[in-house]
Amino acid sequence: MGKVMLITGASRGIGAATARLAAGQGYRVVINYQRSREAADALVETITTTGGEALALRADVADEAQVRRLFTDIDARLGRLDVLINNAGMLEQQMRLERMSLERWQRVFATNVYGSFLCSREAIARMSTRQGGRGGVIVNVSSIAARLGAPEEYIDYAAAKGAVDSMTVGLAKELAADGIRVNAVRPGVIDTEIHTSGGEPQRVARVVASIPLGRGGRADEVAEAILWLASEQASHTTGSLLDVSGGR
Ligand code: NAP
Repeated sequence: MGKVMLITGASRGIGAATARLAAGQGYRVVINYQRSREAADALVETITTTGGEALALRADVADEAQVRRLFTDIDARLGRLDVLINNAGMLEQQMRLERMSLERWQRVFATNVYGSFLCSREAIARMSTRQGGRGGVIVNVSSIAARLGAPEEYIDYAAAKGAVDSMTVGLAKELAADGIRVNAVRPGVIDTEIHTSGGEPQRVARVVASIPLGRGGRADEVAEAILWLASEQASHTTGSLLDVSGGR
């Protein structure tokens, strides 16, 4: 029985690239999504027609009851969980902090921070060797914004990813004796649809001059880093924040 990897927010972008790469490496992948059912089903179809195993499950990671159901569905349908990729994330229209509402901060923290917390809590209960599990790996998808702060764009999102970084470092230490490694990747500017949510689909082109490698990244380049952190090759790596940002 192959290892099971749950990737939250895998209907498109970095999550979908991670699901494709993981399936190619023999993982049985769970493709979580919130709204994009057709895209998630199409990805399952692509993976299964090329000999892989995948399952699409809908859940809003910010909703505690839906997260519990997501994990009990995985228990029932796949019977194990080895790797959790906390990838689901979102941002809102670019603006200065003084114009932001409290509700906006709550939404941004709900998906990016509380979602990662809720999914990690369920995963730990299944993976922890202290609770009878086989051990496992958690990879959080943070952002280089946690270090740069995203001024004039979305400080709320940067602050949320800063919280993800702190959670990564603390949880890695807390779970070291539970057989669970915890790390994060911090992508820079990656060419996905997330920039449309910020109101600037062409953001990569605008900021390219600030990227030492001279281009935006691709989703599959972030997926490679995620898959390495999830693998046995990274067996001595925990509590790390791996920048995949073209040197930014
Ligand atoms: P994307 O193309 O906008 O995709 C976001 C994914 O997250 C979609 O599959 C979406 O599902 C899902 N999602 C959003 N809210 C969700 C929720 N509450 N519950 C479950 N799923 C949810 O974004 P991306 O660029 O691939 O980003 C993936 C991760 O990388 C995010 O954590 C993001 O913050 C991080 N990141 C991205 C960049 C970048 O430049 N692209 C840079 C740094 C970090 P539906 O389609 O079903 O709504």
